[in-house]
Amino acid sequence: MSSVVEPASATTEEVVAELRRRSSFMFVSHVKPDGDTLGAGLALGLALKALGKRVGYFQQDPVPRNLRFLPDTDVVSREVAADLPADTLWVFGDMSDFSRAGEFLPVIARENMLNIDHHLGNSRFGFLNYILEREASTGTCVLRILKAMNVPITPDIATCILTTIMTDTGAFMHTNTTADVLRMSADLMACGADKPLITDQIFANKRFVATKLVARAVAAARLEDAGRFCWTVVDEAMLADCGADGEDTEEIVQHLRAVEGVEAAALFKDFDGAVRVSLRSSGKVNVQAAAATMGGGGHFMASGLTYPGDVPAAIVAVRAALKAQGL
Ligand code: AMP
Ligand code: MN
Ligand code: MN
Repeated sequence: MSSVVEPASATTEEVVAELRRRSSFMFVSHVKPDGDTLGAGLALGLALKALGKRVGYFQQDPVPRNLRFLPDTDVVSREVAADLPADTLWVFGDMSDFSRAGEFLPVIARENMLNIDHHLGNSRFGFLNYILEREASTGTCVLRILKAMNVPITPDIATCILTTIMTDTGAFMHTNTTADVLRMSADLMACGADKPLITDQIFANKRFVATKLVARAVAAARLEDAGRFCWTVVDEAMLADCGADGEDTEEIVQHLRAVEGVEAAALFKDFDGAVRVSLRSSGKVNVQAAAATMGGGGHFMASGLTYPGDVPAAIVAVRAALKAQGL
């Protein structure tokens, strides 16, 4: 028996029963969507549509350029259909709290909220909370549901789920890349998942301005705390100079974390009217716990937060929080 106490989760059977009972669904992805939140919702949506259910997608922010290759992204929007049935089940994917869906989310009764996630510290805001903290992605939680429902894994569904895995494992680089994850990924490829397409679209199709921005941000990086903490800032002026935007900042923090000896890396994003921080760990420092002290969240190795102050204050606060986690 494991000595780790797992927090409560609904069973797969409970989730399947609820999905079978309902006839209308809205899938919700988090703000600044990534391949996990979007791919998980699209995969489950495709499967439920094939069962004759009504399916829609709510996402406050636009679909990022590098995820537009996924099926059905053309029907993802922040609009909610006027004739949506009152007993529609809203399925939240990959968010530790429903506030991560953004301020445009309509008011939804808890009895109509299903929460599917793999983050630490999920607030369990749904009436059903399917929270599997050991899963590599929310998409692999969805795959468990699909298998229990015995629905066919079509090539499109397989591509969506493999996208969630490749997004959250950093293309099989992060420590959540277990033997099970690799086996599951092989099975998804056997079902027709288009891995070359995913690799190309998400990891090898960068805008030239994004690469310029990486160069700028990395050139300005600071290595402190005896080489254990590497951080940099991207602000409006840098984006404007490079002709880049927020979507082009994604891989920067990974470069900082990859420096030898670095225990924690931080990217301070000072644009779009807020200071947002991306944190990454090399395995010793729990960056989820650090982010949680400032209202953020995530995973042991990758987390984020929005800081209520300016960048200099954010740097001080983030460093202190990381120190408290053993930096
Ligand atoms: P990012 O650095 O934006 O790629 O995010 C890394 C991880 O932290 C992801 O698992 C996010 O879901 C999570 N995360 C990012 N920002 C926040 C936030 N403001 N609140 C809670 N979790 C966050
Ligand atoms: Mn996510
Ligand atoms: Mn995820």
